Amino acid sequence: MIATGLSWQGSPQLNWLRFDGGLRWQAADKAQILHQVHVHEVAYGYDSQLLTPDEVAVRIPGIDAAAIPAFGAIWNPGEGWVDLSSLINYLTAGLIELGGEVITDAGIAFVKASAGRVRAIATERYGDIDVDAALLATGSNVPHMVAGFGVTIPDATTTALLIKTRPDRKPAARRRECAAGVVATHPDGAFAVDADWATPRIEVRPDGTYGVPAETIEELLAEASHVLTDTPSLSVETCGIGPKPVPGDGEPVLGRLGDVGGLHCRLHPQRRHAGDDHR
Ligand SMILES: Cc1cc2nc3c(=O)[nH]c(=O)nc-3n(C[C@H](O)[C@H](O)[C@H](O)COP(=O)(O)OP(=O)(O)OC[C@H]3O[C@@H](n4cnc5c(N)ncnc54)[C@H](O)[C@@H]3O)c2cc1C
Repeated sequence: MIATGLSWQGSPQLNWLRFDGGLRWQAADKAQILHQVHVHEVAYGYDSQLLTPDEVAVRIPGIDAAAIPAFGAIWNPGEGWVDLSSLINYLTAGLIELGGEVITDAGIAFVKASAGRVRAIATERYGDIDVDAALLATGSNVPHMVAGFGVTIPDATTTALLIKTRPDRKPAARRRECAAGVVATHPDGAFAVDADWATPRIEVRPDGTYGVPAETIEELLAEASHVLTDTPSLSVETCGIGPKPVPGDGEPVLGRLGDVGGLHCRLHPQRRHAGDDHR
């Protein structure tokens, strides 16, 4: 996003890109974890503020401060959220405008290199496409594919569940992380809700598809409703499950791959916090 110069501020067309802060808190028995997260964030220079419930009530509209334990919550003013479909459409339009071509049905692809540099992308349906440079960005498959070039990237990919609710009449303005998980807003006023604690409840079926118990979805929605003020009970519009790519040490990977000229790779996790755990 930085590379494309995107900015949500003063740009109403980009209402799907928000960096207007995130609030995070933990259940009452996990004050120590929240404190560790705050100390960790401050140590690496991330803007992290500890707010009391009273301060939350004053500064963060839409949050029921009664849901926040007495030891408070972490406020990250720089936290953000992107609606991925909107971002993909935006980037695609920009690329085409610059004379680029987007191929979405190439099937399985892999990088061909020889004599120390990248030569082509071999594709299932379009054969070899000659290239001067390539960026390997195949999500959870990156660690496996870079191994073919003698590079090791430890893999900590998880499977994630994300629920999009039906749009709410009064969209709230901010992203929230709470004991329940993460609640974020979509441009149409719907909420996106997910939580790490739901991951162990995801079933991978023998045919490779995913499932999750209906009670887990109800529990997530109930928790989300609980922390929002002025919000009617939430209902599911879509429910997505899939791999969430994460490098082993949680740090983003971006750069040239080994000694192969023109070949780069990218594996970028969503931001994780020290002390993140499962309920
Ligand atoms: C259900 C769900 C919902 C999410 N919603 C949001 C959201 O709304 N906002 C947000 O910020 N984050 C969201 N996330 C997290 C987000 O999806 C990931 O952080 C992000 O998609 C990672 O992008 P990526 O390009 O690295 O990998 P991916 O999005 O996984 O893309 C990699 C692509 O490469 C393809 N591929 C792999 N190997 C090959 C191969 N050999 N040949 C050809 N193609 C290959 C894969 O099929 C895949 O399409 C969500 C995650 C999940 C699981």
